Amino acid sequence: MTTAVSIITIGDELLIGQTIDTNSAWIGQRLNALGLDLVRRVAVGDSRDAIWSALDEELTKSQIVIITGGLGPTADDITKPLLAEYFGGGMHTDESVLAHVRAIFEGLGRPMLDRNLKQAEVPRACDVLFNKRGTAPGMWFEKDGKIIVSLPGVPHEMAGIMEDKVLPRLQERFSGGVIVHASIITAGEGESFLAEKINDLENALPPHIKLAFLPGARMVKLRLTGRGTDKTLLTNEVMRHQSLLLERLGKIVIATEDIPLEAILLKWFTANKKTLALAESCTGGSIADNLTNVEGASGYFKGGIVCYYRSVKEDLLGVRKETIDKYGIVSEETAREMADAARTKLAADVGLGITGFLGPTTEAGVPVGTVCIAISDATQTTARTFSFKYERRRNKEVAVSVAMQQLLRFVTESHG
Ligand code: AMP
Ligand code: MG
Repeated sequence: MTTAVSIITIGDELLIGQTIDTNSAWIGQRLNALGLDLVRRVAVGDSRDAIWSALDEELTKSQIVIITGGLGPTADDITKPLLAEYFGGGMHTDESVLAHVRAIFEGLGRPMLDRNLKQAEVPRACDVLFNKRGTAPGMWFEKDGKIIVSLPGVPHEMAGIMEDKVLPRLQERFSGGVIVHASIITAGEGESFLAEKINDLENALPPHIKLAFLPGARMVKLRLTGRGTDKTLLTNEVMRHQSLLLERLGKIVIATEDIPLEAILLKWFTANKKTLALAESCTGGSIADNLTNVEGASGYFKGGIVCYYRSVKEDLLGVRKETIDKYGIVSEETAREMADAARTKLAADVGLGITGFLGPTTEAGVPVGTVCIAISDATQTTARTFSFKYERRRNKEVAVSVAMQQLLRFVTESHG
């Protein structure tokens, strides 16, 4: 038996696109990990009627309704009195919340206003969910066998209350089911090609194991999700299907872990005790930016040279003038010399060079979106040309992703 959950996010800012609803995505992931089924997400403005009818409707569809937003101290935040009315019983002041709000204001050295005192008022019908990270408490209601949770909109406050209070309670009440995921990250082929290639394997999956295709920048993530009761049995079963897929997909698989490419690269380089250096032209340092998003990058990533000017490629890196004159600034030959130079100048084991025209204009008859990526180590240098067909910013993002994919492929193929 699955337990249906709805999320209602409240706030005009969500509807006009001023704030992106990250709360639902975060909550969705956590519920999924508990084996609860998020069935609907609804966003409404700061309007009494809209909130009221969203609650009515979601309570007919789900056993659990999680609400975020509308709990602040300003006049547009109407969720709390509305819930007091919806569930009956009126409001009262919660002493522990009041003490907490006082302490926060004392700590800040700011005077408490009446509207701050109001933050300690909660509906009588609820169980208060203490908010360590802010002044607006969360609230837990139960009615006719259903659970309704109201949380502040500020993402880190919402997440704090979810982690501390809501998820443990839900887990206790609804445990039983287990969920097991397994991922495969492929690069270089599109979604439809993959779907064709593994069609029979997908059709042979039992009903409790589902396969999702999640396309990214020139890569597609395949995710198996199994639901069951016995964790070990289910894990074995999901892994067996994952191996069948891996065998079928062969060389287009670049990873079997659902973590970002920079984290996979970090793991490979640190495990193999190798270092990396970059020479970035068209990506302007964005590959370095990505690689350094994960802690521990300083253990393998020596650095990069952003060689945007031709003179920097020549004078600082030592790319030969003749190479650029003969083959062009965007060419595999130039990229190769950039990769080699990055590796030798920064004394790294592996070097990557990237040069391209991202648009909207180009030079010397080379099509917009042409990007050359070269990777070298002490024994070999490989280079490939790609043509990306988006606008400048997207071309850049894709170039960064593809460079990291190529790098992963290079190191895993050449060094096992
Ligand atoms: P509120 O609880 O409505 O006062 O929300 C406080 C702040 O949290 C808002 O100004 C938003 O910036 C942010 N916020 C509200 N709802 C969301 C949401 N669903 N996702 C991300 N941020 C949100
Ligand atoms: Mg609001």
